[in-house]
Amino acid sequence: TSGRVPYRRVLLKLSGEALQGSLGFGVDYTVLESVAKEIAAAVLKGIQIAVVVGGGNYFRGASAWEGLERASADYVGMLATCMNAMLLQGALERIGVETRVQTSIEMREIAEPYIRRRAIRHLERGRVVIFGGGTGNPFFTTDTAAALRAAEIDADAFFKATKVDGVFDCDPVKNPAAILHRQLCYRDVMHYGLQVMDETAITLCKENDIPVIVFNVCTPGNIVRAFAGDPEGCSAAC
Ligand code: UDP
Repeated sequence: TSGRVPYRRVLLKLSGEALQGSLGFGVDYTVLESVAKEIAAAVLKGIQIAVVVGGGNYFRGASAWEGLERASADYVGMLATCMNAMLLQGALERIGVETRVQTSIEMREIAEPYIRRRAIRHLERGRVVIFGGGTGNPFFTTDTAAALRAAEIDADAFFKATKVDGVFDCDPVKNPAAILHRQLCYRDVMHYGLQVMDETAITLCKENDIPVIVFNVCTPGNIVRAFAGDPEGCSAAC
């Protein structure tokens, strides 16, 4: 029926790069505030929202100092995601949105440990649940963590917020004539979309029948539009 939101519960993957905006490092607070406002607007529409935050704006295990073992570097990366989780929590609570941060690596002084059933209860009560720490395992990405959490909390869709409009046939930054795929199947995402999302994440979504919507978070209002099922300017895979 008209006016009803198409999604009951969604998983939003917010990369560190998205939060970084046009800065070279860290968090652009203007971006953080606008993302928080859009999430708040979606909460008011009754959508249950879980967010997985990345950490690439601070640290990426794979491209870190080579003197550090990969696994250790990845743990640093996981800690970086927790900083973004807390910043997003602050931005949301400041505008009156109830939130909980749950981390896959325990840090009980500042966040709840990840407990699936508890996360679902928070969502049912209208709280935004922010998942920090990725999967808690090295050699994974926060995209994979997001796909995993989406499956665990039975999300209706996985929304991947990026700095481009969606999945193109080639790199839109390098080639201005790149064509945006609006509707794809998971296999197409694996073929075209690997710069947008990694294979493990796509496979998890495919195996669990979770639609993936890739959209540009830099366009104002796009989070609300995407959650409302408006396909304008984004890619959807299912
Ligand atoms: N990471 C990890 N396991 C996970 C999630 C993340 O080891 O399950 C580490 C990894 O080093 C990664 C970093 O955390 O480079 C930051 O996450 P990611 O690169 O996915 O963040 P984004 O690109 O979304 O900002």
